[in-house]
Amino acid sequence: MTRRGWLQGLLAAGLWSAFGGRAIAQQVRDMKGIEELQKNWKVLLAAGFKAPPPGEPLKLPDAEWKKRLSPMAYDVLREEGTERAGTSPLNAEKREGVFVCSGCDLPVFTSAMKYESGTGWPSFFTTIPGVFNTKSDRKLFVSRTEYHCKRCGGHHGHVFEDGPLPTRQRWCNNGVALRFVPKTGKA
Ligand SMILES: [Zn+2]
Repeated sequence: MTRRGWLQGLLAAGLWSAFGGRAIAQQVRDMKGIEELQKNWKVLLAAGFKAPPPGEPLKLPDAEWKKRLSPMAYDVLREEGTERAGTSPLNAEKREGVFVCSGCDLPVFTSAMKYESGTGWPSFFTTIPGVFNTKSDRKLFVSRTEYHCKRCGGHHGHVFEDGPLPTRQRWCNNGVALRFVPKTGKA
C-alpha cells in the first residue's frame, strides 16, 4: 500500500471511531452510565447460565488446554496469538447477551459494552468489573497493554486509549477468545 493509501486508511478508521463515539454517547452519556452498565451486567445474562466466579481460578496442564480448545483458540488464549482481522463471526453479533471467556466461561463483557470500532476485531468500551489482569507488552516495539482472563489466565487482547467517550477505552478482543451467550434464544 502507498503511504497515501495508508494515511487515508488511518483517517477512515478515525472517522469510524468518531462515529462510534457519537452512537455510544447517546446510549451512555457519562461515567455514571458506565458504572450502571458494570453494576447491572447480570440483566443480560441468560437465565440458565451458571457463571463461575472470577475468584475461583481454573489452572490446567498445557496438554489439557490443547485437548479442550480449538487450535485457533489455543494459539490466542495460551500462546498470545492474534486472529486475522475480520474473521470473527462475533464482529457482527448484535443480540442482547453476555460474552464469556472461551477458556473458562467467565463472563467478561455484555452486549451493551460492545461497539463497532471498524478494526475487524470485536471491540468494547468497558468490561464487567474485576475480570481481567493486565501487563505491559513490548512485542511490536511500542508499549501496549495486554489483558488476560483473571480466572484461567487466557490472553484476550490489548486495551487502547482511542475508544469512544466517556471511557475512551478500546478493549480489542480476539473473537476466538470469546463465546457469546444470548440472553434468549439459541447460542
Ligand atoms: Zn478464562
